[in-house]
Amino acid sequence: MTKVGLRSRLFFSHLLVMIVGVGSFAIISKVYSPRFFVQHLEQLEGTGFRILYARTYLVRGFETAWNRSTFWSVVVGGTTATLLSYWVSKRIMQPLTQMERSTRRLAAGKLDERLPASEIPEINRLANSFNRMAASLEGVEQRRRELISDLTHELRTPLTIVRGYLEEMADGSIDPSPEIYQQLTKETKRLERLVNDLQELSKAEAGYLPINLQPANLRPLLESLVEKFADQLLEDGPVIRLDCPPQLPLVLADIDRVEQVIVNLLGNAVRYTANGSIIVRVWSEANRLWIAVADTGGGIAPEDLPHVFERFFRADKSRSRNSGGTGIGLAISRRLVELQGGKIEVESQLGKGSTFRFYLPLA
Ligand code: ADP
Repeated sequence: MTKVGLRSRLFFSHLLVMIVGVGSFAIISKVYSPRFFVQHLEQLEGTGFRILYARTYLVRGFETAWNRSTFWSVVVGGTTATLLSYWVSKRIMQPLTQMERSTRRLAAGKLDERLPASEIPEINRLANSFNRMAASLEGVEQRRRELISDLTHELRTPLTIVRGYLEEMADGSIDPSPEIYQQLTKETKRLERLVNDLQELSKAEAGYLPINLQPANLRPLLESLVEKFADQLLEDGPVIRLDCPPQLPLVLADIDRVEQVIVNLLGNAVRYTANGSIIVRVWSEANRLWIAVADTGGGIAPEDLPHVFERFFRADKSRSRNSGGTGIGLAISRRLVELQGGKIEVESQLGKGSTFRFYLPLA
């Protein structure tokens, strides 16, 4: 069975409505008008008019006039209605056809495809949601491309080092030694860290990281973390201190995720601070609890500051690569803080130190 398109359906339905309307008008008036006319003449005769001889002539004249006017009104009305319904169905169909074409193009990968606005409000709303969907798909695709390109860049360096050593050992140009094995282990560890961090980041960005929000007192966590990091610091390194009121209001947070964030901030502070101090400061303000990690390390250049929370960003590429940084830690931290309804920010001065602080909502 051949399917009749929407355009023809609209057109024929208009036409049908017109035929039924005009048809019923013609039939009803054909049946009733002469009768009413004759009745009218009889009434006139009743009042004393003498139209007996002219009656047949009058009735015939009326019928001719009626037939002619009906014929022309059907011809003119019918043509106008046909043209009008053709125009209306075309006007409705055109944006729908365009939408179908655009959907097909979008599916074929042309993600910058957008629909123009329409004067018909319902179609305009549909076009708007189509455009929103297309924009969000374009954004996802863009981020996916960036991630893959960043990722290949990150993976290439350790892989090149490992392959270089292995090839040189294979053709005998260097002898295997504990140092070389250590170097190889270091690079594979780096790869492992990168893969782990990435997994965590992709989970956090896709929103698959389960966040279990509960009222929590952060003081015991902060005390134990500061103690743990203090144990790792060398004699001539920086000192680490907790500056926290004895009674903390409860926050609504996932304590494991908060720990992850603080470990990352403290880890960075320790890594980038040769001497001086690292202070973990906690205070509450309105309905927020702020936690800041301030160090007296090398600091971050003003032009790098806006980028530190971007994934794979490292201010000093070579130094961080040697110290094993992947540039993912802060990207994960930011996502984790945001998932808990907070915000993380940074202030830093080159040569003076950096302060990373974030807040969590109070319970
Ligand atoms: P990484 O694993 O490289 O430390 P992060 O995302 O944690 O990755 O940090 C990104 C970059 O931000 C670091 O490479 C470093 O350049 C800079 N950075 C982060 N914390 C500090 C800090 N406390 N002092 C100086 N620079 C920092």
